[in-house]
Order: sequence, then C-alpha cells, then structure tokens
Amino acid sequence: MEDILNYTRKELNSLLEEGGFPVYRSKQIYQWLYTKYVNDVNQMNNLPVNLRQWLINNYNWRFPKAIREQVSKIDGTAKFLVELVDEQTIETVLMFHGGKAAKQRKTLCVSSQVGCPVGCVFCATGKMGLKRNLSTGEIIGQLLAVSRVHGKIDNIVYMGMGEPLLNYDNVLKSIRIITDEMGLNFSSRKITISTCGLAPEIKKLSEEKIPLTLAISLHAANNELRNALVPINKKYPLEDLLGAVKYFINKTNRKVTFEYILAKDINDSILHAKELAALLKGFLCNVNIIPANPVPGTAIKKPNARSIANFVQILQSKGIETVVRSEKGADIDGACGQLKARTNGND
Ligand code: SAH
Ligand code: SF4
Repeated sequence: MEDILNYTRKELNSLLEEGGFPVYRSKQIYQWLYTKYVNDVNQMNNLPVNLRQWLINNYNWRFPKAIREQVSKIDGTAKFLVELVDEQTIETVLMFHGGKAAKQRKTLCVSSQVGCPVGCVFCATGKMGLKRNLSTGEIIGQLLAVSRVHGKIDNIVYMGMGEPLLNYDNVLKSIRIITDEMGLNFSSRKITISTCGLAPEIKKLSEEKIPLTLAISLHAANNELRNALVPINKKYPLEDLLGAVKYFINKTNRKVTFEYILAKDINDSILHAKELAALLKGFLCNVNIIPANPVPGTAIKKPNARSIANFVQILQSKGIETVVRSEKGADIDGACGQLKARTNGND
C-alpha cells in the first residue's frame, strides 16, 4: 500500500475520483493531515464512513516515528532519530532562532536520503555511503512527526542527511505538498535546498517556478581544492556549477547562499578569502561561513576565532555580504555535517 503522504492534492483528487468520491474531499483530508497532524482516519469526523473505510483499506497512514529525541543543554536544539518502515534511521534537527521563547522561530532541518553517495571529506553522512532515497512521504513525515509535538514550523531547510538534488523528484514533490495552500501552506521563500552542486539539476530547478532559497555548498574557490573536498566537483567543476547558479538567479531573481565550511589550514587563508571574493564578484548572493564541526575520523579542525574574523572581514571589504552561521546543538552532534544514523550506544 502507498503512503498517503506521497500524494499531492492533485493526485489525491484523481484517486478519489477513480474511487467514486467527490474531489473536494481531498481538501478535508489535507486539512486533517497537514493542519491538525492527524493520521487516524477514524478521527476524521467530517468524512463519510464509506470514504473512511476506503481510505483505510487502500492507503498507509503511518507517519515516520521519532524514536529518540536529544535536546541540547546549550541552545535547546532537538535532534530526532526517525525510524522508517524498513528500520533504517535518519536524523532530523529542530533549531530555535532569536528572541524570547514565545517569539522564537523554528527551523527544521530535514533529511532527503538515508546516507549520501557524494562523500565530502568533512561530512559524517558522506562516510555512510548511500543506503537509499527517501520517499516524498518520508520527507514530509519528518515535518509532521516534529510539528505534532512542537507545533508549527517556520522554516524548512533541506540540509540534513543526503543530497536533495540526487533525489530530485521526491524532494520537489515534497515541496509542492508543503506549499499547498490547503495544507501546511508554506511560503516557498521559507524553504531552502542545500546542494553540493549538481549543475544540471540546479538548471532544472530554475524552471520549476518555485521561488525557494538555493544554498550551494561551495567550500573552495578553485577546482583543485574543491575536487579534494567535494568529489562531485570533478563531474561538475566550478565553471559549470557557477553557470547553473547564474541561470537560477536569472530565472528566479532570488539571492543565492554560498556555504563555505572554514577548516583550519585547508581553506582558511587570506589568499583563499581573496580568491573566493573574486569568484563571487557580481553574484546576487550572500556567503555563510560555517566553522568546521568535528567529525570523527577526519583531520578537519575549526579555525581559531581570529582567522574566522579575518576571513569574514576580507569578504566584506570586497563587498560580499557574509555572515558566520551560529553553531547549533554542539553537545548533541546536531550541527551541519554531523548527522549519521545510529541506534545503539549512548552517543
Ligand atoms: N548534501 C547537501 C545538504 C546536506 S549537507 C549539501 O552538501 O549541501 C548540509 C551542510 O553541512 C552543507 O553545507 C555541508 O557542506 C555542511 N557540512 C558537512 N560537513 C560539515 C562539517 N564537518 N562542518 C560543518 N559543516 C559541514
Ligand atoms: Fe552528501 Fe552534503 Fe555530506 Fe557532501 S556534505 S557528503 S553532499 S550530505
């Protein structure tokens, strides 16, 4: 049986029609699922009994299960271990931003694959290799499982485990569902896709007419260094990647974010900063500097505060809008690059 969370409302309309039910029922189903986070069909009291029975008989209504939640003592960041039907696990991270509790914005970092085939040197997920793609429903399910407990989420970032553009169709469909006005009704501007740089898929995404935020994991401003850090650069070198990013900006008029992990003695020198500024000159963009998070088994280290500040200062002096991304959930390995599946032990 297919997961009900796999369907856009349009698809649900056709299914209802085929089953002999009026299409407007899809709105009611969407409201139960996506505004009340209810997946027990018998609670859907505005649906007739025969439709409820049909829905139960034909579709799977489970949400992925959050089997463990770790909360950071530092900043409240919560990391969920989510179990999928085949007992594979993924991680989903809830972060809080700004202001007092009542005013805080919630950002959910969702996974798009179990593991990742790209193998960037500094990334714990990459060390696992690819187990499989997530379905649309498994991507959405992360959002529903967390919203059910923590309330409405403000921003979604596809920055958890996996490379979203290698699971293009399911990721795109999940965005169509998340932005549906009868359901979660998310503004696409509050959705960020982070990619290691698949040039053809970035071009394809530019054509979808979804004004979402695109973030590019750049990490190096020359091909030699980027080949070593982000292996997919050998397939899509900087010229191709930046060509695709320009195309995206032209099509969407959206400012693009370049993510740059700053790793001690690897890509953090003054020369690297100048090279980066020159590469991004003229782009409608901002740069997020991510001081490298430790990943066991790698020699990647965070630079000291002074070299981070110097690096940022050089970019800013060249007119590049730059911020240092604040680290979240450091004590629970909840930060960028640290996600990996594990169910055993007390780590
Ligand atoms: N696959 C996508 C999205 C998931 S990775 C991508 O690569 O963009 C999310 C972000 O975490 C990326 O910017 C990635 O480069 C960064 N990241 C990976 N390992 C990291 C580490 N050890 N320290 C800091 N950031 C890291
Ligand atoms: Fe995959 Fe992104 Fe990790 Fe690279 S940084 S291995 S693309 S998840």
